[in-house]
Amino acid sequence: MDGIGAENGSVQVKAGARAGRRVLAGTAVVPGAGYGPALRPGERPRRPARGTDLPAVDRPAEKQRFLAAAEAVAARLLARADSVRGAGADVLRATAGLATDRGWLGAAGTLIDAGAPADSATADATDRFAAVFTELGGVMAERVTDLEDIRDRVIAELHGMPEPGVPTPSVPSVLVARDLAPADTAVLDPTLVVAIATTLGGPTGHTSIIARQLGIPCVVGVSGLGDIASGAPVLVDGSAGSVEVDPDPGRARSAVAHSADVRRRTASWVGPGRTRDGHPVAVLANVQDGPGARAAADGSAAEGVGLFRTELAFLDRDTEPPVEEQAQIYREVFDAFPDGKVVVRTLDAGSDKPMRFAPTGEEANPALGVRGYRIAAGHPGLLERQLDAIAAASRTSSSEVLVMAPMIATLAEAAEFAAAARARDLVPGVMVEVPAAALLADRILEHVDFLSIGTNDLTQYTMAADRMSAPLAGLTDPWQPAVLALVARTAADGARVGKSVGVCGEAAADPLLACVLVGLGVTSLSMAASAVAATGSALASVDLAQCRRAADAALAAADPSAARQKATEILR
Ligand code: PEP
Ligand code: MG
Repeated sequence: MDGIGAENGSVQVKAGARAGRRVLAGTAVVPGAGYGPALRPGERPRRPARGTDLPAVDRPAEKQRFLAAAEAVAARLLARADSVRGAGADVLRATAGLATDRGWLGAAGTLIDAGAPADSATADATDRFAAVFTELGGVMAERVTDLEDIRDRVIAELHGMPEPGVPTPSVPSVLVARDLAPADTAVLDPTLVVAIATTLGGPTGHTSIIARQLGIPCVVGVSGLGDIASGAPVLVDGSAGSVEVDPDPGRARSAVAHSADVRRRTASWVGPGRTRDGHPVAVLANVQDGPGARAAADGSAAEGVGLFRTELAFLDRDTEPPVEEQAQIYREVFDAFPDGKVVVRTLDAGSDKPMRFAPTGEEANPALGVRGYRIAAGHPGLLERQLDAIAAASRTSSSEVLVMAPMIATLAEAAEFAAAARARDLVPGVMVEVPAAALLADRILEHVDFLSIGTNDLTQYTMAADRMSAPLAGLTDPWQPAVLALVARTAADGARVGKSVGVCGEAAADPLLACVLVGLGVTSLSMAASAVAATGSALASVDLAQCRRAADAALAAADPSAARQKATEILR
């Protein structure tokens, strides 16, 4: 598959071919290759010494000086927000908001009142807030970088130093940093910053969000970046998640050209989903509400919805929405695809998605507890009312509506769900997320009309590794041969009886893996709308026979990295 090769590391050199060459690994965030001299952000101000001995008479003026510095920093960020668009502007405004946060300003002010100089108070107040944010975890923990960026800017302002951050390079460069402040990434020029590599940060952090929006190839969580000298040639592969220092220049340039080619083809892909030799594979979108479905319909070539995560539409509700209100929400999604199919998943509450109106109680292991279909037993009527609402919405819509239940583990669950759906003239299917369901797929298919493999959970439960765990990321990789073996078995069971078996987990959004899944026999792929074109155009560049060969090789591989490499060789 020309196209996927470079995107996934056509970077293949003989080890030791160049003296300074080394390859560092990280988390792939934005696909594509970027090559250029390393660009390092400017120095951040040193942490000021802690002080408490400011004479009482000077303290009011010192507080004013601190407030003026914070205000100047906020004003500069807001002015910059006005000069960029989209998520970049939002990030800059949110960061500016921290500089005017009453709690943070108050904490620093109190320290100054107690005798701390403004710079020391700024650092200490930030530490306190950073500790609280870290404790809260999740999105709040990711804001620690923003807060520390504000700290550095305010301290620089207090000392009359230039604002810390990313300098504007004179030639296209690769930005290499420990972490990047959102305020810096938001204003990056993609013609001058051709790739990003950071030591910290995760796929959902600010650097990743902005890099994705700007289309800058990006790898985060890379260790060893500290040793890369400013100006050293670096090749970043945003699909393979690799950072290569001092690569062979010819090969690096061809990787970049190849990546540009893939981008062009992706941008011009309009569907429908099929391989180069015409084997049809429905390429669908994952959505959570009406606006998301309309955005997918207008902004992508998705042929329909392969996963409507209904629970996400109700996470903020204290009480169960009445049937008619639910129907209205479902109708909005159906109406976005009047000629396509929409697969509605019934509530997948519990575990990482607790719902106030369907509580599951305290559990030692929520991921192994009452979640998904299992909540139905403890909440009589909840599933039936949801199915009533889906059926009502479907009766007034032209789209092809199907329903599926999450977290099915037994034949009895599948049979019970199928009966409830059929009683309402709905086409039933179930998700294959638990290994038990994959192992019994042939018998489950005696009850339902289709299967949809949730590779996120199937990987978590097959590998016994929490999908949210960063240290276990190597295990929670859908390229694990054990996971692929369960997908193969499920798809084969579907093919034997002529019923469709789709994939709606993140695996479908990996263009290389998507081709392997098709080779394993998967009949549809559903993913975030933003990934539709990359997956669709990758499929269009390969034949079914190639996909099958890649699938066999991936199944036979010893580990995910060998599987990826084999598949790349076959599909390139
Ligand atoms: C999955 O588990 O792969 C899936 C699609 O469901 P969710 O990510 O919503 O758990
Ligand atoms: Mg799941």
